[in-house]
Amino acid sequence: MGSCIFCKIVDGDAPATKIYEDDDVLAFLDIRPIMRGHTLVIPKKHATELEDLPADMGTKVFRVGHGLALAMRRSDLDADGANLVINDGKSAFQTVPHVHLHVIPRRSGDKLRFAKGFVLRRGGDAEATATAIKAGMDRLESEHL
Ligand code: AMP
Ligand code: ZN
Repeated sequence: MGSCIFCKIVDGDAPATKIYEDDDVLAFLDIRPIMRGHTLVIPKKHATELEDLPADMGTKVFRVGHGLALAMRRSDLDADGANLVINDGKSAFQTVPHVHLHVIPRRSGDKLRFAKGFVLRRGGDAEATATAIKAGMDRLESEHL
């Protein structure tokens, strides 16, 4: 899809701070994070809504989101929970027409910070955040060796 911003990120024609990539799925930091570490997981092949997404792709996207939520718990973000959300369709406030799973790290007692983040949507040091999540992924992987 020529004009799709997430397809451009997949093709390397638009910038993104990548967290994870395989043949089918890409994860990168949300440009306007609600919380530090807010990540989006997308199928590489364009699908506008869940209606267009092959079921096995949905499985792959969720598997990566699941892993990221666990990695965030093992990272310096100090998460002890996460919101995994798909806004599917305009009626559900989907603003980017390429399926994406939000993975938003949460920590006990962060309600006010979350509310503030929801309004401000300000990014911080993306590279440092990406490094922290990747370290969590390494820790998760080492548990499964
Ligand atoms: P949604 O309302 O579920 O469609 O959310 C779309 C998300 O994509 C928002 O959280 C945006 O901040 C995020 N977003 C939009 N453009 C970009 C981009 N170029 N890079 C990273 N995240 C983006
Ligand atoms: Zn797309």
